[in-house]
Amino acid sequence: TTEQNVLFTIFGGTGDLAKRKLYPSLYRLYKKGFLKEHFAVIGTARREWTNDYYREIVKETLTDLIISEEDATEFANHFYYQSHNVNDAEHYVNLKVLAEKLDDHYQINGNRLFYLAMSPNFFGTITQQLDQQGLVTDNGFNRLIIEKPFGHDYESAAILNEQLREVFDESQIFRIDHYLGKEMVQNISTVRFANTMIESMWNNRYIDNIQITLSESLGVEERGGYYDKSGALRDMVQNHILQIVSLLAMEPPARLKDKDIRNEKIKALRAVRLYKPEEVKDYFVRAQYGIGSTESGLLNNYRNEMNVAEDSQTETFVAGKVLIDTFRWKGVPFYIRTGKRMGEKGTQINVVFKNVPLNLFSEDVEEELPPNVLSIFIQPTEGFSLQLNTKKAGIGLETDTFNLKHKHSAETVANSPEAYEKLIFDCLNGDATNFTHWDEVASSWKFVDVIRQAWDQDQSELPSYQSGSMGPAESDDLLAKDGFNWHWNP
Ligand code: NAD
Repeated sequence: TTEQNVLFTIFGGTGDLAKRKLYPSLYRLYKKGFLKEHFAVIGTARREWTNDYYREIVKETLTDLIISEEDATEFANHFYYQSHNVNDAEHYVNLKVLAEKLDDHYQINGNRLFYLAMSPNFFGTITQQLDQQGLVTDNGFNRLIIEKPFGHDYESAAILNEQLREVFDESQIFRIDHYLGKEMVQNISTVRFANTMIESMWNNRYIDNIQITLSESLGVEERGGYYDKSGALRDMVQNHILQIVSLLAMEPPARLKDKDIRNEKIKALRAVRLYKPEEVKDYFVRAQYGIGSTESGLLNNYRNEMNVAEDSQTETFVAGKVLIDTFRWKGVPFYIRTGKRMGEKGTQINVVFKNVPLNLFSEDVEEELPPNVLSIFIQPTEGFSLQLNTKKAGIGLETDTFNLKHKHSAETVANSPEAYEKLIFDCLNGDATNFTHWDEVASSWKFVDVIRQAWDQDQSELPSYQSGSMGPAESDDLLAKDGFNWHWNP
């Protein structure tokens, strides 16, 4: 392991993301030796905190990880707090003075990583100020990590991107989609490209349809204010789901280098068919959760949640059919669904293969056998399963369907690095594989915007689904009219 010389500046250093994800991830990188002597972290936010107070807060976020108090203190001593209102130009001058002092003290040689862990409204201002007040160095690397959401439609995303690009070029911008840091999302390429059996069948000759489910059992909880303005389409489909689609659909890259992979992902996203507004209803359905009951009691409907409008038209569930106009995928629907308050909790991909031409195991050779299904479990369990038809033990030739299943052990899951740790590590190494390129963001918004606009113009009553179910009947109908059904592999 080689140590990285770097100065982190975390905007939003008192926030939830910084505390829950960033500080523990930095600590893990420190324990592994990727951060050692020559690094420092500046945390900034509006509050007035002292360095000592900040260090205590940082240490508190590490409670489950700390080996010794001494060790944690040593780590936390690399942290400095600078109170700062991002809208105030003068504050950047203080930030610059501190940055230069720390660069000198820790012999960092000008490498800077700016992490924008705050509301996207501020991204444009911050980057412009970083440039104007001279926080960008010319002797080391300067990289920017930005959080989601990247705009709320194509136009706002393009404006934001312009603002960033005035200061940083594309190779310096690392747009986070934390799904790309997940172990099993990264495993998609391995499973595809390291197995003849799978890669040779990865096309419209053998695959019937591909299903992606991101299913949450919780409701909006205390995030109602944010969520009601966003909805499932913007919150999950534009980013995480379309990223997964692109990894499943892309052509094999020439090499597993970030540029090669990104090019293939961009090509795949550009090949996603854009619907006409009047077609949207045939391909996408939306719904909102209604009341429901579980063992733990009665569940509220969405419109009764805190900070949600009483007449809210925001969808908490989306199901859709994505078509990819390439030779490989002609005629293979990618069905996607995501929702809150669903009956199952988890993210999984189910690749449904075509049937054998004839069923020799039935009187009626046209009777369909259960399909082969390759499942990729992304969370909370991680692993694979392959559904096969075999002979039922005993006399005769009856078939039996079973799953070859591998799930990572709880120990493996617990010991594997968390998404944020891997993503920060990649950024430190200048590896953009697991971040979203602007062209990917642009294509995704263009696809999503048509759907959003069609829905915004549709005055009909939003369907609802029972809390604790797998979504509305319309979602099942979407597949049924193509002769398919949703797969969920427990
Ligand atoms: P948060 O509200 O907890 O934190 C916001 C931070 O910004 C605070 O430190 C606050 O002091 C600071 N801040 C606000 N206005 C400021 C100003 N004018 N000047 C200086 N500082 C100011 O938010 P969060 O949950 O940490 O989210 C941060 C970003 O990360 C958002 O873009 C969010 O969408 C994204 N994100 C968060 C999570 C999560 O788990 N929290 C997950 C995914 C993405």
